[in-house]
Amino acid sequence: MLDMARPLLINIAMLFSVLFIWNMVMPFTRSSSINLKVKLIFGAVSSLMALLCMLFPLEKFGDTVFDLRVVPLILVTIYGGGLPGFICTATISFTRLSLGGEYAWVGVLIAIVGFIIAYCFNGYFQRSIRKWKVILLTGGIFLMAYLTIVLLFINPLESYFYPIYFAAFAIAYFMIFYLTERLVIINIQLQETVYLEKLSVAGKMAAAIAHEIRNPLTTVRGLLQFIATDTKDKKVQNYAPLMLEEIDRTNKIITDYLMLIKPSKDQYEAMDLNQVVKDTTDLIAVLASYHAVEIQYEEKDDFRILGNPQELKQCLVNLMKNAIEAIEEDGIIQVVLQYGIKKGTVDIVISDNGVGMRKEDLEKVGLPFYTTKSKGTGLGTMITNRLIRNIGGKINYTSTEGVGTTVTVTLLITV
Ligand code: ADP
Ligand code: MG
Repeated sequence: MLDMARPLLINIAMLFSVLFIWNMVMPFTRSSSINLKVKLIFGAVSSLMALLCMLFPLEKFGDTVFDLRVVPLILVTIYGGGLPGFICTATISFTRLSLGGEYAWVGVLIAIVGFIIAYCFNGYFQRSIRKWKVILLTGGIFLMAYLTIVLLFINPLESYFYPIYFAAFAIAYFMIFYLTERLVIINIQLQETVYLEKLSVAGKMAAAIAHEIRNPLTTVRGLLQFIATDTKDKKVQNYAPLMLEEIDRTNKIITDYLMLIKPSKDQYEAMDLNQVVKDTTDLIAVLASYHAVEIQYEEKDDFRILGNPQELKQCLVNLMKNAIEAIEEDGIIQVVLQYGIKKGTVDIVISDNGVGMRKEDLEKVGLPFYTTKSKGTGLGTMITNRLIRNIGGKINYTSTEGVGTTVTVTLLITV
């Protein structure tokens, strides 16, 4: 019985070390857009892991070989999808068949069953927010299938073998997924920190420039006002109000950008979300109708959140403006308030039927100065992200090119 401990530890140690190196070379994230090259690499690395496992079997009874090769197979299929899983299955099957023996086909069958089960759960896993439920469900179903196949097709082995082998399998399965999930979470947190750092640098820069511009602007405004009240010149009289208006607008933009660095926790208050959304849609309706865009919002009460109403309105204006600008003509923007997936959260969902975004562009939204518009600043979504994060919220974008974009702002409900 103890004989199994050594190869088991070797198997697990090998799986872990490959996993660590793998993660160091290409950090695991939850990106749903893996390209062909990455898929091929996934397939190759998981095949390597499976082969290493086969090199050190836990147990060999005559023609049967027991090891952990299906663990990397399920892992790569769940995280990476069909192609890498298929590559790994093919490698395992080919190797097992060339090793030969009466039960080689059973080994192949188990790999194929593992692949099919994991593949069925792949989509569900990508969408689900309870990843562990899917991981345990997949593992459980596979273990039952595995046990059934072994009992059906392989001559009875010593009875102590089954509980030990399958327990070892389950533990290794659990550990490898635990480690992978931890690595994914750590990588995401790291990305988040880097992004926040970028925001803060951009914010400080914007604020520094804004400060410098504001003072001369105030002087110009004062002098212009002075000249305009005291002049008989028709041109100055006509154009001065327009100039003042433009100066005020510039000032407003500067004030907005200054929000990036100003902590406003002391101005937080409990607010009625419905009211804020309604005010915003009313405010933006004029701009929308100018672009022949209709904004639909069905009022929904009972959501109270903590934050600064002015800032939240600014965020929603930024998002709705982007939606309007994404629509070339005759569009509809739908705004919906609903409970979030996580308990105690509320979602503001803004969907448009505009031009949408490609997957590569989707990842760039929110980066400072990223814009595809000739007159854009690429600061709107960045400021929005920043402000929403300040009140503990999150923003998620989904988009299909040519179909439209949906922005979900998730905020914490307060009592
Ligand atoms: P700006 O609006 O000044 O370009 P933003 O930060 O507001 O800057 O947006 C950055 C970019 O993100 C936009 O240029 C656009 O390409 C893309 N984008 C944002 N929202 C949408 C949307 N609803 N539909 C399509 N593209 C969008
Ligand atoms: Mg914008």
